[in-house]
Amino acid sequence: MSDVTRMTATEIAALVANGEASAVEVTQAHLDRIAAVDDRVHAFLHVDADGALEAARAVDARRAAGEELGPLAGVPVAVKDVLTTKGVPTTVGSKILEGWRPPYDATIVQRLRAAGTVMLGKTNMDEFAMGSSTEYSAYGPTSNPWDLTRIPGGSGGGSSAALAAYEAPLAIGSDTGGSIRQPGAVTGTVGAKPTYGGTSRYGLVAFSSSLDTPGPCARNVLDAALLHEAIGGHDWRDSTSIPQPVPDVVAAARAGASGDLTGVRLGLVTEFSGEGAEPGVMAAFRDAVDALAKLGAEVVEVSCPHFQYALPAYYLISPSECSSNLARFDGVRFGLRVGDDGVHSLEEVMSLTRDAGFGPEVKRRIMLGTYALSSGYYDAYYGQAQKVRTLITRDFTAAFEQVDVLISPTTPFVAFPFGSRTSDPYQMYLADLFTIPTNLYGGPGISVPCGLSDGLPVGLQVMAPTMADDRMYRVAAALESAVGILTPPQL
Ligand code: GLN
Repeated sequence: MSDVTRMTATEIAALVANGEASAVEVTQAHLDRIAAVDDRVHAFLHVDADGALEAARAVDARRAAGEELGPLAGVPVAVKDVLTTKGVPTTVGSKILEGWRPPYDATIVQRLRAAGTVMLGKTNMDEFAMGSSTEYSAYGPTSNPWDLTRIPGGSGGGSSAALAAYEAPLAIGSDTGGSIRQPGAVTGTVGAKPTYGGTSRYGLVAFSSSLDTPGPCARNVLDAALLHEAIGGHDWRDSTSIPQPVPDVVAAARAGASGDLTGVRLGLVTEFSGEGAEPGVMAAFRDAVDALAKLGAEVVEVSCPHFQYALPAYYLISPSECSSNLARFDGVRFGLRVGDDGVHSLEEVMSLTRDAGFGPEVKRRIMLGTYALSSGYYDAYYGQAQKVRTLITRDFTAAFEQVDVLISPTTPFVAFPFGSRTSDPYQMYLADLFTIPTNLYGGPGISVPCGLSDGLPVGLQVMAPTMADDRMYRVAAALESAVGILTPPQL
């Protein structure tokens, strides 16, 4: 058998289904790969070898009993540490949850199990999903397999690095402002943010509830679509979950792979014409646009005048929601507790716990959000940002009257060296310049590799109307058929 860690999820599932490899063998191969490279990559915060092998044995038993296996049965998956996993440590990259073992599985995790996938472990992330590089993880950063001195993106850098390092063929991320798409772009992998409410937030540790969207990460578009289908759809436990079936993303990915985009209208956002982006990124993007046009797509320019205010609006709305959501980490309910010595008051214990448990970026966001929501400032900051959010949504609605999808580079720059953006928060925030508008609107977006700049991967983003996730998969798969899969250097 050739190296299963290099295979697509689709190939692995076929091997398991027809008995050429057992799920246990597939799982062991990935655990061995993790043991061989993860001391250099640090994609994982926790590897659950026993749990993974047990899940794999269950898949093998089902097959032996003649049960029909689903399209991802026996395929290993890495899960961002933002989702609760029953009995398996869940830290959100924070010291405040160190040692916490949740008593329940997130809906996404339940669905992964039901689909017969095998969870390898939990991946590294910026603390509470705030960041673009994993440098804000309380457990140390993850390295980009393309260049170990550079960041793998964030906040979900662990999930994307696990894919690029061949430690897992599938991974789960969460995207509040770009945390699936941006790591996908800088690691040369695929990352999709579904329509808000298209994937359940039950068991997703909350950062900014009106934006948080869990979604699939993979090394190719079809695998991402299969994972999207497995985890998506209505969940009564999440009041913002959309009571509609998942759009047929798998059929769309298969259709797109034929490389025919005749009649598809692609919109280039005028306001994303390159200001603030690296020339090498823009060059790779323009080549990809030419490739898409050659596949038959019609490319037109569309103005979205309010996109330029997306970043400031996001950095008022998301800290505001975070300041409220993170109030629950009080040293009483979960994880860390500091100063509980019978001398300190309850309030002092809360304050000592939060001071010791939260890192500087999380504290910055809590303070920003508390300020933006305080009486006297609410209308000027939070209220104003919500108005901007409405204008951005209107830009999307108007754009989708002219085109089927919008396209842009996923990120303004390729993977940057460690430490180069940590001293100035604004420089870090710029990583999500092109991804944030989609979150404010609530639509789906996908990043797909479109080429290299200075030997490092560049991603192209496809943005679609809400609940038209299938459209973005079609265009992404078509681009993939033209560009091919990017292969990182050997680790
Ligand atoms: N980088 C953005 C932030 O720091 C987005 C994070 C995310 O999508 N979770 O908020």
